[in-house]
Amino acid sequence: MQKNYDYLIIGAGLYGAIFAHEAKKRGKTCLVVEKRNHIGGNVYTENTSGINVHKYGAHIFHTSNKAVWEYIQQFTEFNRYTNAPVANYKGEIYNLPFNMNTFNKMWGVITPQQAYEKIEEQRRQYKKEKGLNQEPQNLEEQAISLVGYDIYEKLIKGYTEKQWGRACKDLPAFIIKRLPVRYTYDNNYFNDLYQGIPIGGYTAMVERMLEGTKIRLGVDYLKNREVFNALLDKAGKIIYTGPIDAWFDYTLGELEYRSVRFETEELPVENYQGNAVVNYTDRQTPYTRIIEHKHFEFGTQKTTVISKEYSAAWKPGDEPYYPVNDEKNQKLYRQYLELAQKEQQVIFGGRLGEYKYYDMDKVIESALNVVKREF
Ligand code: FAD
Repeated sequence: MQKNYDYLIIGAGLYGAIFAHEAKKRGKTCLVVEKRNHIGGNVYTENTSGINVHKYGAHIFHTSNKAVWEYIQQFTEFNRYTNAPVANYKGEIYNLPFNMNTFNKMWGVITPQQAYEKIEEQRRQYKKEKGLNQEPQNLEEQAISLVGYDIYEKLIKGYTEKQWGRACKDLPAFIIKRLPVRYTYDNNYFNDLYQGIPIGGYTAMVERMLEGTKIRLGVDYLKNREVFNALLDKAGKIIYTGPIDAWFDYTLGELEYRSVRFETEELPVENYQGNAVVNYTDRQTPYTRIIEHKHFEFGTQKTTVISKEYSAAWKPGDEPYYPVNDEKNQKLYRQYLELAQKEQQVIFGGRLGEYKYYDMDKVIESALNVVKREF
């Protein structure tokens, strides 16, 4: 086996793959070590009957960063997919995000002025009931004070309670700071300048990033540190994109995450729900969303693949999805960060290495910033 690698890259997700690509371009030798048996990290797509299934949750690329958008085009072409989710509340269908189509369906209003007045009327009613200067005491009060009773009851309450596993009355108000309301007939979920889905899936995109780079799949670096460190040049570095607390063997305690559970099945129908993303906003339906993967790429296959998404509490050993940004976890992360800064030969990066929720464009930007500093 080759020795004296310039870089050992732990994790074949977007962060690791971008770094590997840029290092290779500069004539450096890299070995990528990945615990899972595939590349791509959480953006991995798996082909089932011709449909690219987003194995770790729906991934829609969106950005307003022109440099990132232009950079990523070298690895894939994007289609014209625009995220326009719909909400299913006990069989009633509403467009998201909250916009004139939503308001028209909810109240029959036609003009922005009518919609505005309807929301204002409900906000005023709330303030009257609660007392004008009373600060919202919990998430329920906060949401009603922002968008009124109807939108809260039908589109926010049940979904949020399923997401957090707690009643909105028992959740702190600060979780919802703003609830954007659009007074236009515009169902495009994102405000970003650019969005789309890689034609042919994310896995093919990451394969191109890693072309020509040595990869070891299905190996946990942390369980084989010595073996791999022996392959690193004396002046070489490690790019670590796994969980920061795991690197230090959880000596200060474990960082917490929120998790998601997916139930994926192939169905013998061409079109199950007519949209890639349908949110179930009532409390009774146990899942929060159904994703129909073929619609991300306008698939015309004879069958379809759907994933039901359940919010799940996280326990050590589960797949870590969303970092918990509360004071306790942030404090612990800062302590790990202090330790990390003392590791001269290691760069901690990506969503797990920095314990941070990163959209894909942000993770690419972050990896490219490290590349700039490194070379
Ligand atoms: P990861 O993809 O997690 O890669 C890290 C890799 O390191 C993993 O493959 C892991 O197996 C490996 N690893 C960890 N420890 C070890 C070890 N000890 N040894 C070897 N390998 C190891 N972003 C968007 O822009 N749009 C979206 O629509 C979107 N949807 C999302 C939906 C969900 C449910 C989630 C959780 C995230 C979503 N994201 C989305 C964010 C996106 O997934 C991330 O930006 C991106 O995957 C981060 O890449 P990464 O390389 O930092 O991490």
